[in-house]
Amino acid sequence: MSGLKDSKRIVVKVGTSSLTYPNGALSIRRIELLVKVLADLKNSGKEIVLVSSGAIGVGVGELGLRERPSDTPTKQACAAVGQCELMYIYDKLFAEHRHKVAQVLLTQDTIKDDYRKTNVTNTFERLLELGVVPIVNENDTVSVEEIEFGDNDTLSAIVGKLCNTQLLVILSDIDGLYDKDPHRYPDAKMIPYVPSVTQEIRELAGGRGSSLGTGGMVTKLNAAELANGYGFPMVILNGQKPEALYDLFDGKTVGTQFGSLQNGTGSDQ
Ligand code: GLU
Repeated sequence: MSGLKDSKRIVVKVGTSSLTYPNGALSIRRIELLVKVLADLKNSGKEIVLVSSGAIGVGVGELGLRERPSDTPTKQACAAVGQCELMYIYDKLFAEHRHKVAQVLLTQDTIKDDYRKTNVTNTFERLLELGVVPIVNENDTVSVEEIEFGDNDTLSAIVGKLCNTQLLVILSDIDGLYDKDPHRYPDAKMIPYVPSVTQEIRELAGGRGSSLGTGGMVTKLNAAELANGYGFPMVILNGQKPEALYDLFDGKTVGTQFGSLQNGTGSDQ
């Protein structure tokens, strides 16, 4: 994990399963802890961009639906309700630590257009200069299948590129990448370092994640490949223990690191 602890600009991505209970209600304990750790890291001099899922999941809870909807209009309605609630909570919790937040909602077509992409980059730069914590999500109410990023793991790698991050941390519902499924094999071992995402590594990844979010290990490996291609490393940590971020920046070996600061290809096209 050499060098990671000195990264100044960090994108942290948190998934729905780390923020909500399976019924969609927000885990107050978890989100409070996450915000506390991020606020403290910011106090230590780091610049934080948070990519937060949870809009649809929280919307499901707010609207009292029994499960995550599969049709687009209901998903978009849930996202509209949930995003509002999510930002209200983030704003309130970060304010307790005297930090300001900003909402940044992106769509795939924004970053395909150079002019709009530059605007987004400039906005991130200015927000960070102003000491604000940008909180990013996909603009789910206007993103339909053809134009969507698809999942926030991919989005977080793209956000990393847009804001020139030095590191991407994905908070997941698992400690890192294992050599076999830890839910089925008690002797499964975590892999601390993956220099690059090979076919062999992909074969270790299972299918989809929890019922309220999207993703799973496959989308995390895609994000790692993108991040390393853009020239910055990615680390998977367990979102149930956000304090693992302290360990990471204390130079301890936690989670799984993909790529490194030194061998990032830096192909910054
Ligand atoms: N944008 C979606 C939400 O906020 C999440 C997508 C994802 O988790 O990959 O619910």
